[in-house]
Amino acid sequence: MCDQRTILVRYNEIALKGRNRKFFEKTLLKNIKRSLPKDKGIKYRVPRGRIMIDLPTAVADEYADRLKKIPGITSYSIGITMDPDFDEIAALGVQWIEPLMQTGTEFKFCVNTRRSAKTFPQTSPEINMEVGSRIMSQLSTKGLVVNIKESQFTLEIEIGMSGTVVFHTREMGLGGLPVGSSGSVLCLLSGGIDSSVAAYQMACRGCRVHFVFFDNQPFLGRGGYDKVLKLSKIVNGYQRRAKLFVVPFQDIQVAIRDNCREENRVVLYRRMMYRIANEIATKYEMLGLVTGESLGQVASQTLENLAAVTCVTSMNIFRPLIAMNKEGIIKIAKEIETYDVSIQPQPDCCSVFMPDNPVTRGKIHFLENDEGKYPRNVLKEEALRDIETIKVDLL
Ligand code: ATP
Ligand code: MG
Repeated sequence: MCDQRTILVRYNEIALKGRNRKFFEKTLLKNIKRSLPKDKGIKYRVPRGRIMIDLPTAVADEYADRLKKIPGITSYSIGITMDPDFDEIAALGVQWIEPLMQTGTEFKFCVNTRRSAKTFPQTSPEINMEVGSRIMSQLSTKGLVVNIKESQFTLEIEIGMSGTVVFHTREMGLGGLPVGSSGSVLCLLSGGIDSSVAAYQMACRGCRVHFVFFDNQPFLGRGGYDKVLKLSKIVNGYQRRAKLFVVPFQDIQVAIRDNCREENRVVLYRRMMYRIANEIATKYEMLGLVTGESLGQVASQTLENLAAVTCVTSMNIFRPLIAMNKEGIIKIAKEIETYDVSIQPQPDCCSVFMPDNPVTRGKIHFLENDEGKYPRNVLKEEALRDIETIKVDLL
């Protein structure tokens, strides 16, 4: 069997992008190259609408698996590049199909050709016929039949300008847009389930997502910090090159506890989180904040309270989970492998000094009044000064 494979990468959504197409393709190619080793044995070809990766058979499965974590790829196939010779393609088909057949049992197959090299003399249906009939001539007596609708095995042939690739399975990718094609955003990442999912969803829309965590170690210990390190690392696996900003938040929380109305605490914490996140995002030229908020999930996520936090910044606020229910969010958390980390018990700083009756409809003037009672700007500047910045790639 051949010792070289070709991974054929498809990216439909990007193909729709008109004039921006080249930029998206370049970004996707760069992301693919970053996630595979820099190895002379790996070669890239970029015919129109596809990325092809030629590599040794021994590493093809392992490296192809990495493509499952790259936003922008809709699907891929591992195939073999060969001459468009019908006898040879049919021989390969026989090699693949025969071991799957059971004696005395019918086996349904078909051939599917995509011919983007329009100069090729035969049309796609003609190529299907040529190759299909050659395979049938060898295997029909053993029970092979052609059935397009209920095919158990589809032999696929792509004849393109940069060669012919033959394959038979398609693996799904994440879809969406390649990271880096939409700019950077800053996700408020807690140790809970939601915010990691929100970050992942923005990465799938082409954003590079950086993280900010508001930490209260003196009151809560290191558990939250360790969780966020793990979560940021998992989410960064879908994009790379993220930064994690850890903001010491205890002094702000104590000041709010000691000076402000008890029922307003959570909303006041969150207004400070948004303000600090806004400063970090502005400094690093990020174009929005991302949170895992979902409407009505907890007291701080009513329309009124969301408005009361949104208004402290003029920056874009993205809440990709706003209309999702918890089951849907958990399903994604499991798929992206953050769930097991997220459910490890660890209180979040929002629950520190939790009032018995948190306000559900915070009124801006009451909140502003409370904020006049503690040195908000001084504490904000101190927190910004003491930020720890972590390169997530190095974790
Ligand atoms: P999650 O599962 O993401 O923790 P949650 O349902 O527990 O969400 P909240 O605790 O109200 O909801 O937090 C809402 C959002 O606020 C989170 O999704 C996250 O974006 C942000 N957030 C909360 N706590 C922190 C924190 N300590 N550091 C950074 N962001 C936070
Ligand atoms: Mg939380």
